Amino acid sequence: MDLNAKLNILERMVDIYDHLVGEFDLACEKYCSHCCTANLTMTTLEGYRIHAHLEETGNMRHLETISRQPHPDRFTPRVSINRMADICARDGDPPEEHLNPDVGPCPVLAGHACPLYAVRPFGCRCMVSARNCGKTGFADMDPFILTVNDVFLQHLEHIDAQGYTGNFADIMQFMACDENRQNYAAGRLGAAPDGLVANQPVFVLMIPPEHRKRIQPILMQIRSIQV
Ligand code: SF4
Ligand code: SF4
Repeated sequence: MDLNAKLNILERMVDIYDHLVGEFDLACEKYCSHCCTANLTMTTLEGYRIHAHLEETGNMRHLETISRQPHPDRFTPRVSINRMADICARDGDPPEEHLNPDVGPCPVLAGHACPLYAVRPFGCRCMVSARNCGKTGFADMDPFILTVNDVFLQHLEHIDAQGYTGNFADIMQFMACDENRQNYAAGRLGAAPDGLVANQPVFVLMIPPEHRKRIQPILMQIRSIQV
């Protein structure tokens, strides 16, 4: 599948997700940014889309901000979500992940606003809560939304199966290099560099038994995306 087709699928999936989540009663609102942390992760496809958007809108200074301020204790995943699902389905031991919940804000957050809002990664989009996290100290997420999030994250990785997953800052630094972007666009990426992990197709979806029936129409919507 060529890159434009993947980007179109990404757009369609975002539309489907926003429509779905819009049906829930959420406390999320403009300038609420407790969930905007340096632990954000995303795929190379999302990083490519953000890079293209920054170029188109003449906002490349945000890339410099990201490169200048990668948090030393930011979350860097050791496996992708599809690899994790695979390991769990085979009763294996997933690697221990280190995540510092007090890592601090996302490097591009400015005055509680996101300069990338229109093209923010799915990891930001899927952080939602029924109660304001600033008041409770944690996100209050409907268990079905958690399942929906996993399904979308797994499919997003699937369409970018030749790419990588990593911390937002690491993926953006990778995409800042012209050669990396060209190789990515041509489907010529090799083994994942340090700090990033290889994506893979979906082999098993992480859907708990109680959500298997309810998720079916959503799966059909995702699978019916035509490009
Ligand atoms: S997830 Fe929490 S912190 Fe983020 S916008 Fe929603 S209520 Fe605010
Ligand atoms: S990219 Fe934007 S929405 Fe996502 S964590 Fe950073 S500031 Fe928040």
